[in-house]
Amino acid sequence: MAQKIVAGNWKMNLQFEEGEALVNEILRGSRASDVAVMVFPTSLYVQSLSEQANGEITVGVQNFNANEKGAFTGEMSISQVESVGASIGLIGHSERRAIFHETDADLKLKVDTAVEKGFKFIFCCGEPLELREAGKEFNFVKTQLEASLFHLSADQLENGIIAYEPVWAIGTGKTASSQQAEEMHAEIRSWITERYSAQIADSVSILYGGSCNNKNAKELFACPNVDGGLIGGAALKAESFLEIINAF
Ligand code: PEP
Repeated sequence: MAQKIVAGNWKMNLQFEEGEALVNEILRGSRASDVAVMVFPTSLYVQSLSEQANGEITVGVQNFNANEKGAFTGEMSISQVESVGASIGLIGHSERRAIFHETDADLKLKVDTAVEKGFKFIFCCGEPLELREAGKEFNFVKTQLEASLFHLSADQLENGIIAYEPVWAIGTGKTASSQQAEEMHAEIRSWITERYSAQIADSVSILYGGSCNNKNAKELFACPNVDGGLIGGAALKAESFLEIINAF
Protein backbone atom coordinates (compact mmCIF):
# COMPACT_ATOMS: atom_id res chain seq x y z
CA MET A 1 0.00 0.00 0.00
CA ALA A 2 1.27 3.45 -0.89
CA GLN A 3 1.97 5.83 1.98
CA LYS A 4 -0.63 8.59 2.38
CA ILE A 5 1.06 11.97 2.28
CA VAL A 6 0.04 15.59 2.68
CA ALA A 7 2.87 17.95 1.72
CA GLY A 8 2.92 21.73 1.88
CA ASN A 9 4.99 23.62 -0.67
CA TRP A 10 5.46 27.05 0.89
CA LYS A 11 7.24 28.41 -2.21
CA MET A 12 8.80 31.85 -1.51
CA ASN A 13 6.29 32.68 1.23
CA LEU A 14 6.31 33.19 5.01
CA GLN A 15 8.75 35.01 7.24
CA PHE A 16 10.73 32.82 9.64
CA GLU A 17 8.48 33.44 12.68
CA GLU A 18 5.41 32.68 10.57
CA GLY A 19 6.94 29.38 9.48
CA GLU A 20 7.76 28.48 13.08
CA ALA A 21 4.23 29.28 14.21
CA LEU A 22 2.77 27.25 11.36
CA VAL A 23 4.87 24.18 12.21
CA ASN A 24 3.82 24.55 15.85
CA GLU A 25 0.16 24.61 14.93
CA ILE A 26 0.52 21.65 12.57
CA LEU A 27 2.25 19.66 15.32
CA ARG A 28 -0.54 20.48 17.74
CA GLY A 29 -3.42 19.95 15.34
CA SER A 30 -2.78 16.94 13.12
CA ARG A 31 -4.69 13.81 14.16
CA ALA A 32 -4.40 11.30 11.34
CA SER A 33 -1.48 9.14 12.40
CA ASP A 34 -1.23 7.14 9.16
CA VAL A 35 -0.65 10.26 7.07
CA ALA A 36 2.92 11.47 6.55
CA VAL A 37 2.99 15.26 6.83
CA MET A 38 5.71 17.17 5.01
CA VAL A 39 6.59 20.84 4.63
CA PHE A 40 8.84 22.43 2.04
CA PRO A 41 9.85 25.86 3.36
CA THR A 42 12.54 28.08 1.91
CA SER A 43 15.83 26.21 2.50
CA LEU A 44 16.95 28.93 4.95
CA TYR A 45 14.46 27.64 7.50
CA VAL A 46 15.14 23.92 7.12
CA GLN A 47 17.56 23.52 10.00
CA SER A 48 15.44 25.27 12.56
CA LEU A 49 12.12 23.83 11.41
CA SER A 50 13.41 20.27 11.22
CA GLU A 51 14.67 20.56 14.81
CA GLN A 52 11.31 21.93 15.83
CA ALA A 53 9.41 19.21 13.93
CA ASN A 54 11.50 16.56 15.68
CA GLY A 55 10.69 13.87 13.12
CA GLU A 56 6.93 14.29 13.43
CA ILE A 57 6.79 16.37 10.27
CA THR A 58 9.22 15.75 7.42
CA VAL A 59 11.02 18.90 6.32
CA GLY A 60 12.20 19.07 2.73
CA VAL A 61 13.64 21.46 0.18
CA GLN A 62 11.93 22.93 -2.86
CA ASN A 63 15.06 22.58 -4.97
CA PHE A 64 18.63 21.27 -4.95
CA ASN A 65 21.53 21.09 -7.35
CA ALA A 66 22.55 17.77 -8.90
CA ASN A 67 26.25 18.48 -8.34
CA GLU A 68 28.00 17.51 -5.11
CA LYS A 69 29.99 20.76 -4.71
CA GLY A 70 31.84 23.44 -6.62
CA ALA A 71 31.40 26.77 -8.35
CA PHE A 72 27.60 26.96 -8.53
CA THR A 73 26.84 30.29 -6.89
CA GLY A 74 23.54 30.33 -5.06
CA GLU A 75 22.97 26.59 -5.31
CA MET A 76 22.77 23.84 -2.67
CA SER A 77 23.76 20.20 -2.92
CA ILE A 78 21.94 17.25 -1.43
CA SER A 79 24.65 16.64 1.17
CA GLN A 80 24.43 20.29 2.24
CA VAL A 81 20.67 20.29 2.69
CA GLU A 82 20.82 16.88 4.39
CA SER A 83 23.41 18.21 6.82
CA VAL A 84 20.84 20.68 8.17
CA GLY A 85 17.96 18.23 8.38
CA ALA A 86 16.28 17.98 4.96
CA SER A 87 15.40 14.43 4.04
CA ILE A 88 13.46 14.97 0.82
CA GLY A 89 13.35 17.39 -2.12
CA LEU A 90 10.94 18.42 -4.84
CA ILE A 91 12.03 17.74 -8.41
CA GLY A 92 10.42 19.19 -11.51
CA HIS A 93 7.85 21.54 -10.03
CA SER A 94 6.21 23.34 -12.94
CA GLU A 95 7.52 26.68 -11.65
CA ARG A 96 11.08 25.35 -11.80
CA ARG A 97 10.44 24.01 -15.30
CA ALA A 98 8.79 27.21 -16.60
CA ILE A 99 10.53 30.06 -14.75
CA PHE A 100 13.96 28.51 -14.24
CA HIS A 101 13.98 26.59 -17.52
CA GLU A 102 14.78 23.22 -15.97
CA THR A 103 14.70 20.62 -18.71
CA ASP A 104 13.79 16.94 -18.64
CA ALA A 105 17.53 16.20 -18.80
CA ASP A 106 18.25 18.47 -15.79
CA LEU A 107 15.52 16.72 -13.83
CA LYS A 108 16.83 13.30 -14.76
CA LEU A 109 20.22 14.31 -13.36
CA LYS A 110 18.58 15.42 -10.11
CA VAL A 111 16.65 12.15 -9.91
CA ASP A 112 19.87 10.18 -10.44
CA THR A 113 21.78 12.15 -7.82
CA ALA A 114 18.94 11.77 -5.32
CA VAL A 115 18.82 8.02 -5.89
CA GLU A 116 22.59 7.72 -5.62
CA LYS A 117 22.54 9.58 -2.29
CA GLY A 118 19.45 7.80 -0.95
CA PHE A 119 17.67 11.16 -0.77
CA LYS A 120 13.91 10.96 -1.13
CA PHE A 121 12.13 13.06 -3.72
CA ILE A 122 8.73 14.09 -5.01
CA PHE A 123 8.81 14.14 -8.79
CA CYS A 124 6.26 16.60 -10.21
CA CYS A 125 4.61 16.23 -13.59
CA GLY A 126 1.56 17.73 -15.27
CA GLU A 127 0.29 19.19 -18.49
CA PRO A 128 -0.33 22.83 -19.46
CA LEU A 129 -3.85 23.91 -20.39
CA GLU A 130 -3.38 23.85 -24.16
CA LEU A 131 -2.39 20.20 -24.08
CA ARG A 132 -5.40 19.24 -21.98
CA GLU A 133 -7.63 21.17 -24.35
CA ALA A 134 -6.05 19.30 -27.24
CA GLY A 135 -6.69 15.96 -25.47
CA LYS A 136 -2.95 15.26 -25.20
CA GLU A 137 -2.56 15.29 -21.42
CA PHE A 138 -1.85 11.57 -21.01
CA ASN A 139 0.83 11.52 -23.70
CA PHE A 140 2.45 14.63 -22.28
CA VAL A 141 2.65 13.35 -18.70
CA LYS A 142 3.86 9.93 -19.83
CA THR A 143 6.62 11.60 -21.84
CA GLN A 144 7.69 13.67 -18.81
CA LEU A 145 7.90 10.53 -16.67
CA GLU A 146 9.72 8.55 -19.34
CA ALA A 147 12.20 11.38 -19.88
CA SER A 148 13.27 11.85 -16.27
CA LEU A 149 12.02 9.05 -14.03
CA PHE A 150 11.21 5.76 -15.70
CA HIS A 151 14.84 4.96 -16.48
CA LEU A 152 15.22 4.03 -12.79
CA SER A 153 15.29 0.43 -11.69
CA ALA A 154 12.38 -0.91 -9.65
CA ASP A 155 14.30 -0.61 -6.37
CA GLN A 156 15.26 2.94 -7.18
CA LEU A 157 11.75 4.01 -8.16
CA GLU A 158 10.42 2.76 -4.83
CA ASN A 159 12.36 5.63 -3.21
CA GLY A 160 10.35 8.21 -5.12
CA ILE A 161 6.96 9.86 -4.86
CA ILE A 162 5.08 11.24 -7.86
CA ALA A 163 2.94 14.38 -7.79
CA TYR A 164 0.51 14.96 -10.63
CA GLU A 165 0.10 18.72 -10.86
CA PRO A 166 -1.76 19.97 -13.93
CA VAL A 167 -0.17 23.35 -14.65
CA TRP A 168 -3.55 24.97 -15.30
CA ALA A 169 -4.63 24.12 -11.74
CA ILE A 170 -1.57 25.44 -9.88
CA GLY A 171 -2.27 28.66 -8.02
CA THR A 172 -5.30 29.34 -10.21
CA GLY A 173 -8.11 28.23 -7.88
CA LYS A 174 -9.16 25.89 -10.68
CA THR A 175 -8.88 22.33 -9.36
CA ALA A 176 -8.92 19.20 -11.49
CA SER A 177 -12.18 17.39 -10.82
CA SER A 178 -11.80 14.22 -8.81
CA GLN A 179 -12.60 12.32 -12.02
CA GLN A 180 -9.81 14.08 -13.95
CA ALA A 181 -7.36 13.48 -11.10
CA GLU A 182 -8.33 9.83 -10.69
CA GLU A 183 -8.07 9.16 -14.45
CA MET A 184 -4.54 10.54 -14.62
CA HIS A 185 -3.42 8.84 -11.40
CA ALA A 186 -4.79 5.51 -12.61
CA GLU A 187 -2.91 5.96 -15.91
CA ILE A 188 0.33 6.76 -14.08
CA ARG A 189 -0.09 3.63 -11.95
CA SER A 190 -0.77 1.55 -15.05
CA TRP A 191 2.43 2.87 -16.70
CA ILE A 192 4.40 1.87 -13.60
CA THR A 193 2.77 -1.58 -13.72
CA GLU A 194 3.72 -1.98 -17.40
CA ARG A 195 7.27 -0.76 -16.92
CA TYR A 196 7.94 -2.32 -13.49
CA SER A 197 5.27 -4.41 -11.74
CA ALA A 198 1.90 -4.14 -10.05
CA GLN A 199 3.65 -4.45 -6.70
CA ILE A 200 5.89 -1.44 -7.38
CA ALA A 201 2.92 0.50 -8.80
CA ASP A 202 0.97 -0.10 -5.60
CA SER A 203 3.84 1.01 -3.41
CA VAL A 204 4.56 4.38 -5.09
CA SER A 205 2.56 7.29 -3.63
CA ILE A 206 0.91 9.45 -6.29
CA LEU A 207 -0.12 12.85 -4.96
CA TYR A 208 -2.45 15.38 -6.54
CA GLY A 209 -1.46 19.06 -6.63
CA GLY A 210 -3.22 22.10 -8.06
CA SER A 211 -5.54 24.27 -5.96
CA CYS A 212 -6.24 21.41 -3.58
CA ASN A 213 -7.78 22.93 -0.46
CA ASN A 214 -9.84 22.20 2.62
CA LYS A 215 -13.05 22.25 0.53
CA ASN A 216 -12.06 19.72 -2.14
CA ALA A 217 -9.43 17.52 -0.43
CA LYS A 218 -11.91 14.99 0.94
CA GLU A 219 -13.36 14.25 -2.49
CA LEU A 220 -9.94 14.11 -4.16
CA PHE A 221 -8.44 11.89 -1.44
CA ALA A 222 -11.39 9.51 -1.70
CA CYS A 223 -10.24 8.54 -5.21
CA PRO A 224 -8.62 5.10 -5.10
CA ASN A 225 -5.45 6.21 -6.88
CA VAL A 226 -4.94 9.53 -5.09
CA ASP A 227 -2.57 8.96 -2.17
CA GLY A 228 -2.54 12.53 -0.92
CA GLY A 229 -1.72 16.04 -1.99
CA LEU A 230 1.02 18.52 -2.71
CA ILE A 231 -0.50 21.74 -1.47
CA GLY A 232 0.57 25.31 -2.25
CA GLY A 233 -1.63 28.21 -1.16
CA ALA A 234 -3.76 26.23 1.29
CA ALA A 235 -0.62 25.00 3.10
CA LEU A 236 0.23 28.49 4.31
CA LYS A 237 -2.50 28.64 6.95
CA ALA A 238 -2.67 26.07 9.75
CA GLU A 239 -6.43 25.86 9.68
CA SER A 240 -6.74 24.91 6.00
CA PHE A 241 -3.63 22.69 5.99
CA LEU A 242 -4.85 20.78 9.06
CA GLU A 243 -8.25 20.28 7.50
CA ILE A 244 -6.54 18.84 4.43
CA ILE A 245 -4.40 16.50 6.56
CA ASN A 246 -7.47 15.41 8.45
CA ALA A 247 -9.46 14.93 5.23
CA PHE A 248 -8.24 11.32 4.98
C1 PEP B 1 2.00 23.74 -5.95
O1 PEP B 1 2.63 24.76 -6.12
O2 PEP B 1 2.58 22.65 -5.92
C2 PEP B 1 0.55 23.85 -5.78
C3 PEP B 1 -0.14 22.75 -5.84
O3 PEP B 1 0.05 25.10 -5.57
P1 PEP B 1 -1.49 25.47 -5.27
O4 PEP B 1 -2.01 24.46 -4.28
O5 PEP B 1 -1.45 26.86 -4.70
O6 PEP B 1 -2.22 25.38 -6.57
